[in-house]
Amino acid sequence: MFRRTLVSTLSVALCASTAIAQDLPQAGSEYFTAGQALIAERVAAEPNTNTAKNVILFVADGMGIGPNYGIRLFAGQQQGLLGEEYNLPHDLFPHSAIMKTYNINAQTPDSAPTAGAMNSGVKQVFNTINLDDTAIYDDCSSEVPLRLFSEIVADAGKSVGIISTASVAHATPAAVYAKTANRNWFHDAPEGCDDIALQLVNQFEAGVIDVALGGGIRDFAPEGTALDNGTGRRLDGQDLLARLDGLGVQYVHDAETLAAADRSQPIIGLFANSDMSYQEDRPEGEPSLLDMTVTAIEQLQTNEDGFYLMVEAGRVDHALHGGNAHRAFTDGAIFAEAIQAALDMVDLEETLVIVTADHEHVINFQGYCGRGTPITGLCMDIASGQIEHSGEPALADDGLPYTVVTFGNGAGSVLIEQEDGTYAGARPALTQEEVLDPDYLQQALIPMSSETHSGVDVGLWATGPWAHLFGGTMDQETIFHVMNHAAFGSAE
Ligand SMILES: [Zn+2]
Repeated sequence: MFRRTLVSTLSVALCASTAIAQDLPQAGSEYFTAGQALIAERVAAEPNTNTAKNVILFVADGMGIGPNYGIRLFAGQQQGLLGEEYNLPHDLFPHSAIMKTYNINAQTPDSAPTAGAMNSGVKQVFNTINLDDTAIYDDCSSEVPLRLFSEIVADAGKSVGIISTASVAHATPAAVYAKTANRNWFHDAPEGCDDIALQLVNQFEAGVIDVALGGGIRDFAPEGTALDNGTGRRLDGQDLLARLDGLGVQYVHDAETLAAADRSQPIIGLFANSDMSYQEDRPEGEPSLLDMTVTAIEQLQTNEDGFYLMVEAGRVDHALHGGNAHRAFTDGAIFAEAIQAALDMVDLEETLVIVTADHEHVINFQGYCGRGTPITGLCMDIASGQIEHSGEPALADDGLPYTVVTFGNGAGSVLIEQEDGTYAGARPALTQEEVLDPDYLQQALIPMSSETHSGVDVGLWATGPWAHLFGGTMDQETIFHVMNHAAFGSAE
């Protein structure tokens, strides 16, 4: 009785508000009708409580709310829009949350324990991957390994893939399969410990990993070995490429061999000596993040039991460390294209898709800029009586223009080391031509050769089965618990 009364009261209230809305002077505005349409869609939406046969976790390394905003405007402006009105594919997902990213012993996190948290369900120690909370950084004897989402899904008969534009042994992809007291043990580890590349091969052998695409070929061959995309660096003399070959894993090294790979067999693709190229600089023949995502999904879809895929835009982080907004945003734009391609290939009735970042950076966005201000350019004044900016740069108190993007610290610092070792400086004058150069480093305050991460929360966007479990402010290890519940329910 109570329920029926409540429902009829609600429907009366909805009708009343609709009627009132039509009478408002703003009712004909496109902003208003778009808002109404979205609410109607939300009212009609039913939660998707299907079992997730597949899970795809997209991580753009370092793409907190700030970079996500910059990438949105950049991608929109590339399409000829003003930019602010544009939506990235994940901006349109029905569910989202704010994620806390701190590590057990760090207010400002690094990419190893943050990605580890997503894959294990617990927070971890700075610079370590998938060890329990007693881990000591760089101390191999402290390793108490955790069980990973990849291992759980592989036991259930599903396939697992990793993709990164960084090395496949880099922190974020490594967090899917490796357990280590030092995220930098790419190809060598102290006595009694397995380095990360070796662990990847062990996980191929164990049937946990089925596809691995990215950079880092140097980590798979003995020191000095000449390779397709670099030179071997292993001091233990192990030829991991030969071992992978013996396991029946196809090795591919460029876009052509990737395209030709047999989708019914495991694949390792190593397209660079260490990290792959930025999208801005990517040579012909090196696959893009989009190419790798499509191929990996094609391979993983040959398993009727489903799959778990982690896709990392690893170099968004590197460009931000370099203080270069242009490359961060171009790598973010291809990341968005990879997300759209994945959405076009899967059935959201049975595929949980999550987009997030591991941590934020110290990127800032200045005001007050008019609509359509190029997001990597100078902040242009708001114009009265027109939507688009005035075409005149806004000026700071020093009488000089400034870019929309700046950094709290980094290589673009306005403080320059003097002959006596002290730092001094002032903001130089800037022209639009200079700041729109892809190599321009935006101004920063504190001088640092490498710009730092920030502890600020990041966004998470989700769609598909059980995506509605995300909401509010959460710790990032909750991602494991949602993936686990979506794939296995309360039984696991
Ligand atoms: Zn980083």
